[in-house]
Amino acid sequence: MTLFNLDLKNKTALITGSTSGIGLGVATELAKQGANIILNGIEKPEDVEETIKSLSEISGSKVIYSPANMMKEEAITDLFQTAETEFGGIDILINNAGIQYVSPVEDFPSGKWEAIIALNLSSNFYTIKSAIPYMKKQGWGRIINIASAHGLVASPYKSAYVAAKHGVLGLTKTVALETAENGITVNAICPGYTWTPLVEAQIPDQAKSRGITEEEVINNVLLKAQPTKKFTEVEQLGALCVFLCSDAANNITGSSLPVDGGWTSQ
Ligand code: NAD
Repeated sequence: MTLFNLDLKNKTALITGSTSGIGLGVATELAKQGANIILNGIEKPEDVEETIKSLSEISGSKVIYSPANMMKEEAITDLFQTAETEFGGIDILINNAGIQYVSPVEDFPSGKWEAIIALNLSSNFYTIKSAIPYMKKQGWGRIINIASAHGLVASPYKSAYVAAKHGVLGLTKTVALETAENGITVNAICPGYTWTPLVEAQIPDQAKSRGITEEEVINNVLLKAQPTKKFTEVEQLGALCVFLCSDAANNITGSSLPVDGGWTSQ
């Protein structure tokens, strides 16, 4: 199902962390509009061949994969060099790659803190820094940072994740102000619980360890904070990205858009 139609032929989109989940959902919706796609993730290139083939068929445009580790500044610089060679530059940047770790702050391993800040926050800084010069030259650009409801509110035991996602919103607002007169918009999307393989896979285990049904895990554990009692769907996040790429959205910048079933309204 395509929720929004827009011609993105001749535009190139980099979606970080797009071999599964939200990133793949966003890449698919952008491909439906004809954009060239740069997929990224930690999987081996041979494991992504099928996805590339299917996205190429959907978009009719060029789709490539980069296994660049978004925790490393040099890998990000190399990725932007590849993008320049292959496509001239990146018009649409979706910062999506992210990881999670849950622990009380006093036991939180320092290495996990550093990894989460590196991937969930610093990678956004490095990709934005690399993307802006080309976007300024073109007089057009779209930067969308996939933050989280945890960019707006906290939950216990997620200190690094919540700190990183709040940081992403600060970065979004700052860069939006710096590029406001350059035809570039910079926004953050703040999903609540989203139906991805990662979330789906934990339901049977949670049911077993808590001694409750899978339906109870969904409603009383995962969706406890989400008044609609519905997961966000990756297609909906992809459609919002497509909308933010449209001319209709060219005066939306610096915003943080919750897609969380009412979670952060409470
Ligand atoms: P996911 O685990 O399904 O996908 C993560 C992707 O990131 C994969 O493509 C993986 O290859 C890639 N990745 C991991 N480490 C990487 C690295 N070092 N360099 C490059 N790529 C790397 O995750 P998801 O649930 O789709 O989440 C995507 C984003 O959405 C994250 O930033 C997450 O914080 C955010 N988010 C997710 C939810 C949710 O409920 N799923 C809710 C709010 C926000």
